[in-house]
Amino acid sequence: MKEKNHDHKKCISIFKRLSGYIDGELDEKTYEEMQIHIKECIKCEVCLETLRRTVDLCRNMKMQGVPDRLRERLKLMIYDPSNL
Ligand SMILES: [Zn+2]
Repeated sequence: MKEKNHDHKKCISIFKRLSGYIDGELDEKTYEEMQIHIKECIKCEVCLETLRRTVDLCRNMKMQGVPDRLRERLKLMIYDPSNL
């Protein structure tokens, strides 16, 4: 069930590694850990999807990285539960 035993600190540490997750730069253990959390946590799931789409978009447009503004917005989403 989503949001059960929700550990907000974990969300923040997940968020910090999301781009590594998308790019497949993480070791297997970290990757698995994140996968488990994201499955349980709607907020991280939404963040991951948004970031993934943005990264795809940036790649298509040959842009470098994710725009800071979006990164900030996602960060706020994680830090402030009322944003969802
Ligand atoms: Zn989370």
